[in-house]
Amino acid sequence: MTFRTIIEPFRIHSVEPIRLTSVEERRDALRAASYNVFSLRAADVMIDLLTDSGTGAMSRDQWAAIQHGDESYAGSPSWELFRESVQSLFPFRHVIPTHQGRAAEKILFSVLGGPGKVIPSNTHFDTTRANIEFTGAEGVDLVIPEGRDPQSLHPFKGNMDIDALEALIAERGAANIPVIMLTVTNNSGGGQPVSLANVRAVSEVAHRHGIPFFLDACRYAENAWFIREREEGQQDRNVADIVREMASYADGMTISAKKDPMGNIGGWLALNDDAVAQEARNLLILTEGFPTYGGLAGRDLEALAVGIRESVSHDYLQYRIRSTAYLGEALHASGIPVVRPIGGHAVYIDAKALLPHIPPKQYPGQSLAVALYEEGGIRGCEIGTVMFGLHPDGTEHEAAMELVRLAIPRRTYTQSHIDYVIEVCRAVATRADALRGFRITEQPRALRHFTAKFEPLA
Ligand SMILES: *Cc1c(COP(=O)(O)O)cnc(C)c1O
Repeated sequence: MTFRTIIEPFRIHSVEPIRLTSVEERRDALRAASYNVFSLRAADVMIDLLTDSGTGAMSRDQWAAIQHGDESYAGSPSWELFRESVQSLFPFRHVIPTHQGRAAEKILFSVLGGPGKVIPSNTHFDTTRANIEFTGAEGVDLVIPEGRDPQSLHPFKGNMDIDALEALIAERGAANIPVIMLTVTNNSGGGQPVSLANVRAVSEVAHRHGIPFFLDACRYAENAWFIREREEGQQDRNVADIVREMASYADGMTISAKKDPMGNIGGWLALNDDAVAQEARNLLILTEGFPTYGGLAGRDLEALAVGIRESVSHDYLQYRIRSTAYLGEALHASGIPVVRPIGGHAVYIDAKALLPHIPPKQYPGQSLAVALYEEGGIRGCEIGTVMFGLHPDGTEHEAAMELVRLAIPRRTYTQSHIDYVIEVCRAVATRADALRGFRITEQPRALRHFTAKFEPLA
């Protein structure tokens, strides 16, 4: 007998209280935060779906490993455990620990980037793009056309468009492309996976032109699980083997250990090229620390060594992917427009379709994010014109999509929390016609979504 209910493959060992708030309290909190959910006090949030980055629950074994942390400045045994754990999935010659993913990006692109250079990816994550552009290089997104269509049901919407990659190389010249990246899963494109065939094809093109190929591997385990479920001939494989095969096509990787490796902090850069690794270590020492700890404490390295092993557990991944889909499919079945297929780490509500009466420059995603908090204390994140609309020259443009992302922290919420989220979303959708747009009263010049202040329109 197989059962429909996906049970969490863990019991709760230590609990964190959630403070239950009233609608009146939440209205006051919204006013005090100038209607920006980033400015809310986390203690006033009941279900926090702002991000899956560093917000997951560590396991008993990770907490136990923390007690083994060896804080020696150089050559700590915790470092050796960490390096072995990384190399068990990603057997690159050099492993360089950093405090977060963006520090690994900063170091890699400081070595490889620079004016006149072009760095393609399926879709660059925002910190990746920012670190590329900071060196004067250009980031180019080459996801397949289905990856830009919220309703396309392509099984691997994170794939790179191989023809577009060939065309870019022909146009700009291989000598100006210092590295080709691939983000697995494609976070900015809805957490959509990349197929093994596509990883292989990108690698083949890169190497034919003598260009190094790197993974932005933050969600390697979720991506490998999708490969196992959706790609022909992969059904009987072990996820760890699929991850190793993905790594075998690449020359290196950057990663945030706050995602699939189950850390609350951490990241690394790994690669095979000795000369690039040497330069990267020299830069590491300037800002992160000695090469055997990077920006991390020995205890963090221990927790990650265990988290990396746990990340490829089939029981965990089945629960992870199916429970994210459970939320997304329930919203879809209720007539709430969501990006489909449902990705690995988050559900994206299409605010433009749900709130067609609010024009993009009155921020339908912001309106929906505010309504979800007011209705039920749920915090999601606008990914639309607030986040992407303000250009460096000060002009404002509509974003391609107006989404609200509900990101699911790993091993943190239970099915009844998610059932509550579904109810709150339905309640907001029933009064969608009554939601109003917003105007911005104060904003910085860049990355305005973090600190802008809003006012509801009458
Ligand atoms: C989170 C993330 C990063 C950046 O990592 P941080 O640890 O937040 O610095 C880079 N790429 C992707 C795809 C991410 O999801």
